[in-house]
Amino acid sequence: MSLSERISHIKPSATLAINAKAQELRKQGVDVISFGVGEPDFDTPRHIRDAAIQAMEEGFTRYTAVGGIDELKDAVCDKFRKDNNLDYDRSEVMVSCGGKHVLYNLAQAILNPGDEVIIPAPYWVSYPPIAILAGADPVVVQTDEANDFKLSASALEGAITSRTKLLVLNSPSNPTGSVYTLEELERLADVMLKHDIYVVSDDIYEKLIFDGGMFANIAQAAPGMKKKTFVLNGVSKSYAMTGWRIGYVAGPSEVIAGMTKIQSQSTSNPNSIAQKAAVAALCGPQDEIATMLTAFDERRKYLVERLNGINNVSCNTPGGAFYTFPNFSHYFKASFEGKQIANSAGLAEFLLTEAKVALVPGIAFGADSFIRFSYATSMALIKEGVDRIENALGRLVF
Ligand SMILES: *Cc1c(COP(=O)(O)O)cnc(C)c1O
Repeated sequence: MSLSERISHIKPSATLAINAKAQELRKQGVDVISFGVGEPDFDTPRHIRDAAIQAMEEGFTRYTAVGGIDELKDAVCDKFRKDNNLDYDRSEVMVSCGGKHVLYNLAQAILNPGDEVIIPAPYWVSYPPIAILAGADPVVVQTDEANDFKLSASALEGAITSRTKLLVLNSPSNPTGSVYTLEELERLADVMLKHDIYVVSDDIYEKLIFDGGMFANIAQAAPGMKKKTFVLNGVSKSYAMTGWRIGYVAGPSEVIAGMTKIQSQSTSNPNSIAQKAAVAALCGPQDEIATMLTAFDERRKYLVERLNGINNVSCNTPGGAFYTFPNFSHYFKASFEGKQIANSAGLAEFLLTEAKVALVPGIAFGADSFIRFSYATSMALIKEGVDRIENALGRLVF
């Protein structure tokens, strides 16, 4: 059976692949420490689980409106008003089966073959394939470690062509943890407003910002930007709800209608029970976010210090999310048992087999000098994991 041509242009998610490999090793009895996971290591808060149980008990187990129940849409509108000072009505929001699904629906709704999508690197692994699956061309723009991996207005300007349709921004960022300031977003908005381009603002890590930092997105950065912005968010990361599959988006109503049409012919509504749980997440007490953030912050500080303590490794201090993205390129020159490490994939492979530590190579995010560490794991495992890495690096030959 020959597969579609479309599928030959994409690879499976590298982050999910690393996790699968680590799990496979664990099944064989190997004690692997994983820095690979892209999800909080906390349980979904009690009151959210209770709302789901109640929904089931009440028989809320049938199809719902395709783009989500009104109760959840209203909760989403309230959230945008309260947290982001952005005013939307029901026709401007929809709910999908996770934030990733929002992006997929958006790409299918607005992109045509030949359209260009500007994606700053390091980028989240799914952005290029989602553009490609819509027939569009990803235009990857490299950013600098020295500029905290943020897209500058001049780099944005330089990447825009007559074919540019969409820019993807993600702050706090997966994989770097970088957070854009409102001033930086204002400079990008100035460029955007000169051109007829849309932007999707991936705000999934909005609630995970350290040091009392302020969150801002580009829809807030200039008066004209809201009608050019799709604000993507969801409950996966903020409420430890990755398995529930609820993401949402706000943007111009005609595109939301188009995305809803695509959803109606693919998944239909997101899970009815999970929608009720998402209402409880958005409208209920928010204190467990603070608890989670405190734990992440402690790990962040420890991990960044340890990584910067490794010879010839540099690691920026992330302002948000739960990742660090240190530069390990010095070690690519080294060899192990006569074979050169060569690149981030080589180093990740070496560390998995020799240190029993799972990490995602930077190449998966379009930045080969780096390795992504997720610190959604315990302090004890972070300490043991970095110890193992240091030991293994000591066995490399330069
Ligand atoms: C996790 C993540 C998402 C969305 O995840 P879902 O589980 O599909 O809601 C979106 N963007 C980034 C950058 C992420 O890391």
